[in-house]
Amino acid sequence: MKAVETVLRNRRPHWVGDGFPVRTLFSHATAGGAISPFLLLHYAGPHEFPPATHPRGVEEHPHRGFETVTIVYQGELEHRDSAGNHGSIGPGDVQWMTAGAGVLHEEFHSQRFAESGGTLEMVQLWVNLPARVKMTPPRYQELRAAEIPTVDLPAGAGTARVIAGDLQGAKGPAQTFTPVYLWDLRLKNGGTTELSLPDGYAAAVVVQRGQLVLNDAESLKPMDVALFRRSGDRITIAAEEDATALLLSGEPIDEPVAAHGPFVMNTHEEIRQAIDDYQAGRFGRMRAEA
Ligand code: MN
Repeated sequence: MKAVETVLRNRRPHWVGDGFPVRTLFSHATAGGAISPFLLLHYAGPHEFPPATHPRGVEEHPHRGFETVTIVYQGELEHRDSAGNHGSIGPGDVQWMTAGAGVLHEEFHSQRFAESGGTLEMVQLWVNLPARVKMTPPRYQELRAAEIPTVDLPAGAGTARVIAGDLQGAKGPAQTFTPVYLWDLRLKNGGTTELSLPDGYAAAVVVQRGQLVLNDAESLKPMDVALFRRSGDRITIAAEEDATALLLSGEPIDEPVAAHGPFVMNTHEEIRQAIDDYQAGRFGRMRAEA
């Protein structure tokens, strides 16, 4: 059994741009290597936006050295980057963007969502890259809800959407550089599920709705995050209400982390280089709007 190491609670919201009221549910700065290969998780909303003529969001900014994974639950987002990728993602869709050597991008509500207004609920997860691929060319994976398999958990405990890694023979569509499991869990009140995860992997459960009990011991409410010890090869999750939660697990990247805003490298020299490259325009350019 992977024992629960820490439960992180009570994160206060702050705004990212004018479009994303987020809570930082965990970050490398506070949790350190315990969450590796993950660096940060922002949970935005649920937040009601009134109709607007101009989409809200975050203006052009750079990233280097890691991946951003955006999961939309409600609302619709639009993304544009310097590698020429452009797309909108709605409920159930996931965008897995590899910043690698560097991208500039902007993240906004879609024009359609801005005009209609409504509820926004999403997660953005940052996944680290090992030193050998930090400077890999940028990559953009748009994973539509329809390509993400859903499996029924044993004993009617609920369902899991398999975004990355495999579960009960279903394989998540995300391509990753190191082994990562990312499962969107919908658990039924009264159900208990046991999940097998590799010994030595980091693991976390992030609760969005409902109340969970982990390993018959630890009670979690919405916005709580349980971080597990690396040792052990399974966890149990019991739902005391209908619940929505994310399970994250992965092979730790045990390398030094030098993080500065949108850049996550291994050394301070590499951070200085990233800032230089960004300021000198070596991250490319956003294309003019079509
Ligand atoms: Mn970004």
